[in-house]
Amino acid sequence: MTADCIFCRIIKKESEAEIVYEDEEILAFKDIYPAAPVHLLIVPRRHIPTLADLEAGDTMLMGRLISVANDLARAFNLDQSGYRLVINCGKEGGQLVYHLHLHLLGGKALSPAIAEGRGV
Ligand code: 5GP
Ligand code: ZN
Repeated sequence: MTADCIFCRIIKKESEAEIVYEDEEILAFKDIYPAAPVHLLIVPRRHIPTLADLEAGDTMLMGRLISVANDLARAFNLDQSGYRLVINCGKEGGQLVYHLHLHLLGGKALSPAIAEGRGV
């Protein structure tokens, strides 16, 4: 727990969020500024600042984060249409909140900008 971390505050239920999933090590909630009709954030309860701070023992946790994201994609009816998982890492990776999180985006045709080398 980091006192000034907004996601830690959400995890501790000290800040409001629309929680859509939780278990003993993972929480998922709606992004406050959705970039798509479905925009969820999947976060570990443990405060891990960035993707680059993962350690060897976190492999199972990362697998579970992706698995929860896939389950949520099904629950939000995105599994047939498709969806995107994004992890921003660090300043130039566009990370704004320094508590590791996966963005699950879907519900519309997302721009293929990254794959085409645009928008990067
Ligand atoms: P990042 O750029 O760090 O990958 O993304 C952080 C995301 O967290 C942004 O999409 C932003 O809208 C979202 N966010 C920031 N503060 C809050 C908050 O207090 N509540 C919720 N639900 N989402 C937040
Ligand atoms: Zn945190």
